[in-house]
Amino acid sequence: MVFMLNPRTSTVEFGGIGGAMAISIGLPLFTIFLNQMVRPDYFIQGFFKNFDLVQICNGIRSFSYYVKRYDVWTYYSVWFTVLALFDIILPGKNMKGVELRDGSKLPYKINGIAMSAVLTVMLAVRWTLTNGELPELQYLYDNHVEICIVTILFAVLVSIYCYIASFIPLMGKNGTGSKEKILALGGNTGNPIYDWFIGRELNPRLGPLDIKMFCELRPGMLLWLLINLSCLHHHYLKTGEINNALLLVNILQGFYIFDGVLNEEGVLTMMDITTDGFGFMLAFGDLTLVPFTYSLQARYLSISPITLNNVQLSIIIGMMALGYYIFNAANTQKSHFRQGKLPHLESIKTERGTKLLCDGWWSKSQHINYFGDWLISLSWCLTTWSQTPLTYYYSLYFATLLLHRQSRDEHKCRAKYGKSWEEYEKRVPYKIIPYLY
Ligand code: NDP
Repeated sequence: MVFMLNPRTSTVEFGGIGGAMAISIGLPLFTIFLNQMVRPDYFIQGFFKNFDLVQICNGIRSFSYYVKRYDVWTYYSVWFTVLALFDIILPGKNMKGVELRDGSKLPYKINGIAMSAVLTVMLAVRWTLTNGELPELQYLYDNHVEICIVTILFAVLVSIYCYIASFIPLMGKNGTGSKEKILALGGNTGNPIYDWFIGRELNPRLGPLDIKMFCELRPGMLLWLLINLSCLHHHYLKTGEINNALLLVNILQGFYIFDGVLNEEGVLTMMDITTDGFGFMLAFGDLTLVPFTYSLQARYLSISPITLNNVQLSIIIGMMALGYYIFNAANTQKSHFRQGKLPHLESIKTERGTKLLCDGWWSKSQHINYFGDWLISLSWCLTTWSQTPLTYYYSLYFATLLLHRQSRDEHKCRAKYGKSWEEYEKRVPYKIIPYLY
């Protein structure tokens, strides 16, 4: 059979072109809607008892207004560009990605620790220089929805750029000796709308910058951290006090982000980097959805603060600790096993020569790490306690994301490991939650 580097995609996801269009319009609108429900002048209380469409839409302007908000564009462009420059120049560990279809491995620089250190120093310097006023954080807080809308438009532009660039041949040659770029197996249908949405090129790069990896780790994740901080800062400036619920959500989510930075190289083997193309779906998820929906609890608490008592604090911290313990122990165990450090654990040898672990954490369920991660998400929502179900949106969304991810991974592993995967499924029947699902 003739080897084709970039075969045509024959099966589509998300309902094809119709689904891609619906998601591309619906999800951004939903994100704006969600943030409009948590504003200083109007916020959802209780079980949506003051839900009012007119109030929710209040303040939303015409499309051209956002296109002409040059101050917001400048603010976000500076943020994006400075981070990209730091990503390129800051020192880090040089690593290779997984082997691609042409037999090559792309180089990556893992410099999250240096990046976090520089940002922390910059914030500390600005805090000192501005006597704690930090106008850039106040701007972020005051222009929350405007910045959110600009990130959506930014994601559209970045994904259009990546789609067009995917047709431009490589400067050098790929591993097969041609100038063809490697496309995502799922993003080469030939339909511009679908391929733009799902991502046509597997690893779009601009000079030394890997656009997908950069967007996945920097502008969105770090903006999430800054939005949380801006909420704490705003509340402190307004009241002179530090609210314990707001502080807690900052610490818990900050810890999670920092842990991600410490284990950054793990991203290199994740589906998003190894399999998915970089289109609007990922760009929007990275640049908008992460910062502007993961920060919903902090935003809500800055508008409607509560003081958590010791019992509530213990429940929340306990839930986070349990979730993190499962998440971290399971991921570390799999990683150590794959490095050959745990040979005594039971496993199934696959026809590809690799092994599927079915012992320890990985005998409890096929994705016990997802269960831990979900418990973490629930602990964050609990910081708003019983004020409104709206802030529990994140846990619901994350459960959907993990369920979808699990089914995609199952599909991939079934095709990759065949009979060995079937045997694994018999040995480890639960998919995520032991004894339940
Ligand atoms: P997994 O860590 O479960 O990795 C799945 C891959 O691991 C499979 O494709 C297969 O890859 C290999 N594998 C599966 N089962 C076994 C086994 N029993 N033994 C050995 N190898 C196995 O999933 P993800 O990469 O999706 O997630 C990684 C972490 O990131 C999770 O903890 C998840 O919760 C978290 N995450 C967080 C997100 C967020 O927004 N906060 C978003 C997405 C993920 P192979 O083909 O190489 O064998």
